[in-house]
Amino acid sequence: MTQLLRVVWTPEMLRYDFGRGHPMSPQRLELTMRLARELGVLEDAQLVGAQPASDELLQTVHEAEYVAAVRRADVDGTPDAARGLGTEDDPVFPGMHEASARVVQGTTDAALAVLDGAVLHAVNVGGGMHHAMPGAASGFCIYNDAAVAIRALLARGVERVAYVDVDAHHGDGVQAVFWDDPRVLTVSVHESGRRLFPGTGHAHETGGVHAPGSAVNVPLPAGTSDAGWLRAFDAVVPAVLREFAPQVLVTQHGCDSHVMDPLTHLRVSVDAQRVVAERLHGLAHEVTDGRWVALGGGGYAIVDVVPRAWTHLLAIAAHRPVDPATAVPAAWQEHARERYGRQGPASMSDGALAAFRTWHSGYDPSDEVDRAIRATRTAVFPTLGLDVDHD
Ligand SMILES: [Zn+2]
Ligand SMILES: [Zn+2]
Repeated sequence: MTQLLRVVWTPEMLRYDFGRGHPMSPQRLELTMRLARELGVLEDAQLVGAQPASDELLQTVHEAEYVAAVRRADVDGTPDAARGLGTEDDPVFPGMHEASARVVQGTTDAALAVLDGAVLHAVNVGGGMHHAMPGAASGFCIYNDAAVAIRALLARGVERVAYVDVDAHHGDGVQAVFWDDPRVLTVSVHESGRRLFPGTGHAHETGGVHAPGSAVNVPLPAGTSDAGWLRAFDAVVPAVLREFAPQVLVTQHGCDSHVMDPLTHLRVSVDAQRVVAERLHGLAHEVTDGRWVALGGGGYAIVDVVPRAWTHLLAIAAHRPVDPATAVPAAWQEHARERYGRQGPASMSDGALAAFRTWHSGYDPSDEVDRAIRATRTAVFPTLGLDVDHD
């Protein structure tokens, strides 16, 4: 019998830890799981840990020399700057190979459980390591769990997988792995690379010669807020997913698009992030018979934003959506205050309306967000068989 939801979780996930002062603190995962539990979101979910992935599995995406370099770095701290290891973004830490490989196994097991019908939805908030490249660490990401899991689905005979990435940063690693593979559609809605890492994700990046239209990029101007972010999502993502008709949907929910995030320049609310998670959930039911694997990703406002954003995601996947007006439980705030000297938000909402105008209500060429949306539609819609103006 199919269970509704698997959540990849074991406290061992907290070992993915670049150390003090690094923005990607594992405490964001602890705070998320604590909040989700206190709101009763996980009561019927299957919580499943994971062993570290084997080298064989990692090497379905990563170069053997790179895996060996991560293992070397792990053993004696040897940096390998050419492979992104021991850098400011990706410092070497003890247990780095195992911790990173565990994330990969968790996401892969989750994807295969969804494919096999053991569960309908799966969430790995510790996953979404979308910047990791086949031969290098990048942007806080060592191994690319999303790419390995998608490869595992393909190896099992799946013909079309869609990957949708709403992290503030371009999902460059996943795009690079499947650039020339027509079986995988990668879609990324992000802040433009003009001011932000990794600098890629232009509208004209639409896939390799053997896979035209298999990459979709929506780079939005710095400062884009809910209305623009939601309008861009709505103008691109549902249409390309319906047209591509994937059998499995993998999504990355990096919540660093939030206005309080210290690393990026978008101005999105938790309410809008929740709307997008709901839309993706609805699209999974519509397009992939509910086969949905949702991952975490970036998010560096670890008390104020990440726990709420991903608790909403878990709640949606559990079919126990949390009303945005819900108060953050006092016990959670007390824990945050003891631990971080701040109690964090009082409400599961930012009080934002998360309203937007649909694309079909009219295009404003003087608006920078509209020009960005239009550029994406122009670059890729015709290749996908969609109409730039009417779909
Ligand atoms: Zn990010
Ligand atoms: Zn559902």
